[in-house]
Amino acid sequence: MVLPALPNVDRMKRRIQSPDYRDWRRKVEDVYGCLHPVRLSGLWQITDKTTGQVLTRSDGRPAETSGHILSPCGNRRESVCPACSDRYAADAFQLMRAGLSGGSKGVPVTVSDKPRLFVTLTAPSFGPVHNRRPNNGKALPCRCGRYHHEHDPLIGQPVDPSTYDYTGHVLWQAHSGKLWNRFTQKLRRYLARAAGLTDRNFKDHARLSYAKVAEFQRRGIIHFHAVIRLDGPDGAVDTTPAWGTVELLADAVRAAHADTTVDSPELDDGQVLTFAWGDQVDVRPIRPADARRFEDEHGTISDDRISSYVAKYATKGTGKSEAADRPIRSRTQIEYLRTTEHHKQIMRTAWDLGAPVACPDCHPDGEHQAGGCACATIDHCARCDNGGLIPGPFDELNLRRWTHMLAFRGHFLSKSRAYSTTFKQLREDRQIWRFEQNLAELGVDADSVAVVNHWDMTSVGHRTAEERELAAAIAERTRQARKQKYANERTD
Ligand SMILES: [Zn+2]
Ligand SMILES: [Zn+2]
Ligand SMILES: [Zn+2]
Ligand SMILES: [Zn+2]
Repeated sequence: MVLPALPNVDRMKRRIQSPDYRDWRRKVEDVYGCLHPVRLSGLWQITDKTTGQVLTRSDGRPAETSGHILSPCGNRRESVCPACSDRYAADAFQLMRAGLSGGSKGVPVTVSDKPRLFVTLTAPSFGPVHNRRPNNGKALPCRCGRYHHEHDPLIGQPVDPSTYDYTGHVLWQAHSGKLWNRFTQKLRRYLARAAGLTDRNFKDHARLSYAKVAEFQRRGIIHFHAVIRLDGPDGAVDTTPAWGTVELLADAVRAAHADTTVDSPELDDGQVLTFAWGDQVDVRPIRPADARRFEDEHGTISDDRISSYVAKYATKGTGKSEAADRPIRSRTQIEYLRTTEHHKQIMRTAWDLGAPVACPDCHPDGEHQAGGCACATIDHCARCDNGGLIPGPFDELNLRRWTHMLAFRGHFLSKSRAYSTTFKQLREDRQIWRFEQNLAELGVDADSVAVVNHWDMTSVGHRTAEERELAAAIAERTRQARKQKYANERTD
């Protein structure tokens, strides 16, 4: 294993004093201090369409860049790149907020008067785990008899690992995305029924819009937080039908929660497991914008609190202590991860459940011996093509590919089409904004210019430990500035 070189203070000083430092810093600031930027070489130029001349900025500099520029790595895991994961969180926040409060990104402010709920759906229990049990300010002891501190690493670990249902845990997690989809179908059905509509007619009268985030609990299983909104048939811009009250929406959510199940693929013995949500469901109405400053008496929650909550979880990823950043390549690798025994056992279980099995046609006794099996001497087996192995019963779940995520295969943030804007749109908006800023500075309009923009990738990452350290400091400064900006914007 090669340890990363530590930054050297003298070398760092020299870097800061070097003639190209300002230019380098500007480039790094443009990617918000990304830790693994992609280095591109090429040319960018804005020229006058008729004369072909490079235009000049107000400060006399030509409107061109050539040589090297940096492009952000875009990884949203905080443990991989704090800068890019911050950017992702900021986008998640904008996206969530646009759908909650409106007034930006093509969503009208009237969305905040629609029936909206903040819903938390949890996984069932697969065995008792150590926890903290706050009870009206006075904590109760854990079932192990002790009181756990908030940061006690024991929290979320099974009280008795030997009886914990790891198979159930892994398979539930692998089906959680499907469970959510099934839940939204059921929810539409319950709403249609309450309104006296058929399933088919529902879409002509109303539309269900939502955004959800998945969050890992300390026991290594995810739960979902969702904003659910009832719109008219055309989405955010369309008035909710009169029957669509927040109470009706809440009742439908509770009914759908209790009634949603998903079946596992058939096991070897023909058995099928059925997965459902845990009993715990939290359904809270979201206050309309004009009620924002009133007391929180009915467990209602404000728009701003939800979107900043979401932005916070959007980057938590799974964290170092819970899962690995990259796919696992072998079972042995799991043993070397810096994580708890519980999380390792979840990964081992996922890895094993995802294994191929002995081909029954060429293994009458059911066992395949890796590296020296009788099946190798068989003339030809059409079923396994002489490989000796066939895909296991859970092949379609792709469990090995997702072992590092504890078998969670879903997206971290997902939303229905009409909820609000998209990440792609947000990125494009940023590019357009920059381009328009450039044009404004040049005092020209888009029709009179030609833009040359050609870049090729040359390398990835910073060149030295010192540059990495300086980039991390830039990322931290950007983060503080953004935090301050949101704090100032908050009205709640
Ligand atoms: Zn990055
Ligand atoms: Zn305990
Ligand atoms: Zn064999
Ligand atoms: Zn075979």
